Amino acid sequence: MNTNDINSLKALLSSPKAIVIIPHKNPDGDAIGSTLGLYHYLKQYNHNATIIAPNDYPDFLKWMPEESSILKYDAQKENCDTLIDNAELIFTLDFNALGRIGHMETSVTNSSAIKIMIDHHQQPDDYATYMYSDVSMSSTCEMVYNFIEMLDDVDKITSNIATCLYTGIMTDTGSFRFPSTTSATHTIIGQLIEKGANNSEIHNNIYDTNSYARLQLLGRALSNLKVIPEYRTAYITLTQEELNSFDFKKGDTEGFVNYGLSLKGIIFAAIFIESHQDEIIKISLRSKGDFSVNELSRAHFHGGGHTNAAGGKSDLNLKETIEKFISILPNYKQDLNPE
Ligand code: 5GP
Ligand code: MN
Repeated sequence: MNTNDINSLKALLSSPKAIVIIPHKNPDGDAIGSTLGLYHYLKQYNHNATIIAPNDYPDFLKWMPEESSILKYDAQKENCDTLIDNAELIFTLDFNALGRIGHMETSVTNSSAIKIMIDHHQQPDDYATYMYSDVSMSSTCEMVYNFIEMLDDVDKITSNIATCLYTGIMTDTGSFRFPSTTSATHTIIGQLIEKGANNSEIHNNIYDTNSYARLQLLGRALSNLKVIPEYRTAYITLTQEELNSFDFKKGDTEGFVNYGLSLKGIIFAAIFIESHQDEIIKISLRSKGDFSVNELSRAHFHGGGHTNAAGGKSDLNLKETIEKFISILPNYKQDLNPE
């Protein structure tokens, strides 16, 4: 985003506007944290801002300040379509292709609102008038902090904003351990604590709210873990039946894929989760080092994301999906196990 863009945005935001803020489908901590952080910021200027999420998100995100004001498109389509139609500005946060917002895609595409993208995923589409896209960023929350800074408004960061932005940086960096975590990330985190983010409380709210059933489901996932040492790969499967028997709730499998990656010597981990409702196998992929799961997911599993974290899906059944997964590994031998 250059100085001209910033000046134009400053001018646009200098009088109250009708604004819609949108995270991606199945929003995570960074998606909800960044949209809420921006929402609290815009509200101070009396904008008429509304966050519309494509669908619901896990309970462990439902404590964030003003979270209850977020509308879910799939639950109140008509109301949301009116807001999108009437919006003067639409901020799209934590995604970079309108296919990532599910059934909202048509209304957002057809809207005449000025679109502003703030995102850190690879290969952005070209739908936004103003694009702040940077794949080197740890999280969209870090970018929202920078965005507020570019608007010369760091002073306007309240404890609510700080809490929301801290949450998304924490979740997207695996609590500040992924390689995307830089000294700049830590500097911002320090600022957010100064401004009132309670780091210990936020961590508890996100990570220490396990149900007994979820821990049992984790136990099952770990006993299903398979290792393919010749490709330094590990993968987990969960069938719909297994999910049902452990009283599965949205978000319960969050983070499971990382256990595969915690095995010594493993640089590529996957989890395949059967969803009867969506009639797909949901896939999460993680890697260490240069092996790009974004590329692999784009090439084989209708997905994408970052070099070291991506998602995707398969229309085959679980068994066939695993067969496909195993069959493509030799294509990546150079990356996974060079001689
Ligand atoms: P997760 O495995 O946690 O669902 O997603 C990992 C990363 O990949 C996240 O940054 C997420 O936004 C991105 N991602 C997940 N699913 C998809 C997808 O279907 N397409 C694209 N382009 N990115 C995805
Ligand atoms: Mn993110």
